[in-house]
Amino acid sequence: MDRLVCYECGETYTFGAASRCACGEPLWFATDAASFSWPDEQTTAAGDRSLGRDTLWRYRSVLPATAPTELAAVAGGTPFFRARSIEAADGPRIHLKIEGVSPTGSFKDRGTAVGISRLDGPIGTVSHGNMALSVAAHAAAADRDAVILVAEDTPDSRLAMIAQHDPHLFRVRGEYGRLYDDTLEHDLGVSFLNSDSPLRVAGQKTVAYEICEAFRPDVPDAVVLPVSSGGQASGVWKALRELHAAGLIATLPRICLAQAERCDPIAQAFRRGASRVDAVSGEPTAAVSINNADPPSGTRALAAVSETDGAVVSVSEDAMLAETDRLAADAGLSVEPSCAVATAGVRKLTAAGEFAPTDDVAVILTGSGYKYGPPPGETPPIREIDRADVPEVVSRLSS
Ligand SMILES: *Cc1c(COP(=O)(O)O)cnc(C)c1O
Ligand SMILES: [Zn+2]
Repeated sequence: MDRLVCYECGETYTFGAASRCACGEPLWFATDAASFSWPDEQTTAAGDRSLGRDTLWRYRSVLPATAPTELAAVAGGTPFFRARSIEAADGPRIHLKIEGVSPTGSFKDRGTAVGISRLDGPIGTVSHGNMALSVAAHAAAADRDAVILVAEDTPDSRLAMIAQHDPHLFRVRGEYGRLYDDTLEHDLGVSFLNSDSPLRVAGQKTVAYEICEAFRPDVPDAVVLPVSSGGQASGVWKALRELHAAGLIATLPRICLAQAERCDPIAQAFRRGASRVDAVSGEPTAAVSINNADPPSGTRALAAVSETDGAVVSVSEDAMLAETDRLAADAGLSVEPSCAVATAGVRKLTAAGEFAPTDDVAVILTGSGYKYGPPPGETPPIREIDRADVPEVVSRLSS
């Protein structure tokens, strides 16, 4: 699998020859999925003793890599279940995909796993957090050098977490947005897995393969996910197109995207009815992992929405934080505010009449909240008591 194609103009390239199409849009792998069928049984590698748990390598016949490196071998295969605890009476059935259980706590491991397994030598990334952590960890496990470039405002606590995996870690002064282009324009001897790298999109499409396989023979009415660069949304769209071409899904679920109101270039373009996404000047938001004012795959994500009759919704800071609390208190799930925008988005779309109670909506919870702790400004309601008072206080709780 060595051919890249532009979704927009159809131009093809050899893998490695170009990082974007001449028309300006990002490329993805040309995948011949027509003969793909759902694997009959568990497909974990020979000698793997994991108990009943499958991974993204289940779909290796439609991936541009087949021999996973060590940590990459366990990426994907995340839990998926109906969460009645957070459904609204007038809302759709909500099914949650828990990407936070990935090795480094976010869906980024899917793209990294396919990328590092395909590439030789040092790998790198330009990231604020989750991708940096993922690349650093996977490189450590594969005994490769990792070059991580983070923005000047990345907090020390995050850097310390990334540094645990011993990468070459640089906090970069100057215009961070330009770094993405710098790493693609120069031959640095390092393969950069940036947000819309075709290898990453190929790995990230597997989340939609898993959702659709879990739903068969039905198809969810919609897939809802938070969006930043548009890489994951591109992967989901690619997967749905492939599964449709293979005759494994009868219809394409609607792709619905959620952004934080304070930085929502894709939602703004959607509301304008535009077919291209323009950069905005975003403001800081608690949804740090999706704070991208100039998304490299934004226009492709918007195309995914319009081709599937989906929607893009912006979520206020208050609604996002309330939803983060709700997921923890009602569903027992600690997530980043960046993920909570997705279920908050379902509520907003339901209020707007986009979803009916008979709809099945699959929501991708992209990353764990346990890495970064609760959202800033929250003081946990802890009561201090003396040991002698414990029996009385605790027995009163249940009476
Ligand atoms: C990276 C990230 C996103 C956004 O994904 P894109 O592919 O950049 O659109 C969403 N949620 C979390 C937790 C992330 O780390
Ligand atoms: Zn093109």
